Amino acid sequence: TGPLDAAWAVRWMRGTAQVVSENRALLIDLDRAIGDADHGENLDRGFGAVLLKLDGDAPETPAAVLKLVAMTLMSTVGGAAGPLYGTAFLRAATSLGDTGVVDPSGVAGMIAAARDGIVARGKAEVGDKTMVDAWTPASEAAETAAQAGATAPEVLAAAANAAHAGAVATEPLIARKGRASYLGERSAGHQDPGAVSTALILQAAAEAAGG
Ligand code: ADP
Ligand code: MG
Ligand code: MG
Repeated sequence: TGPLDAAWAVRWMRGTAQVVSENRALLIDLDRAIGDADHGENLDRGFGAVLLKLDGDAPETPAAVLKLVAMTLMSTVGGAAGPLYGTAFLRAATSLGDTGVVDPSGVAGMIAAARDGIVARGKAEVGDKTMVDAWTPASEAAETAAQAGATAPEVLAAAANAAHAGAVATEPLIARKGRASYLGERSAGHQDPGAVSTALILQAAAEAAGG
């Protein structure tokens, strides 16, 4: 485990691109069940574009990396997830300011800012079967871990684990936001694709930190 510096943020994004690519079919299948089968394709295109941007640019702070990601996702992902993840990464970047190394409370603040940005943009509440159901427990777990004295990688690991549990817990829920809400009760019985992709993204953050 090393410092959560700009190199960590780049590793996080490269790891995300890889895990999204590996799980492209899974995310498509989840979105086929309760949406329009494009979530895996949307995210794979977006993070593929992020990889190309990172090859040509070397942002000097974690926030600069996240801002580049936000801009790229907003212009390439489309659908509901593009603006939502774009807002999340932009708010996360803003919360970090010009810090060179993110500390434990900075990690918790970054995840809370991302979560709050998604809620501001999409107006979903916990239990609506969206990515908010992964981001909210992740944010809470990060805050609890940071206050308990965990290291920054440990805070990320706590967030990733909580996001995963939150994504799994969306399965029985009836969607009240996004395309899946058109299905009403038929949306129950499948995990929400955006909640699952959120867990993958946060897992990549933890792994990039060595957690
Ligand atoms: P689209 O639904 O436009 O095809 P995607 O398939 O890429 O877009 O993304 C779908 C995901 O977006 C859902 O699984 C859900 O997690 C998330 N989502 C949709 N609407 C909202 C919302 N209002 N608030 C939060 N998340 C949402
Ligand atoms: Mg879709
Ligand atoms: Mg779509």
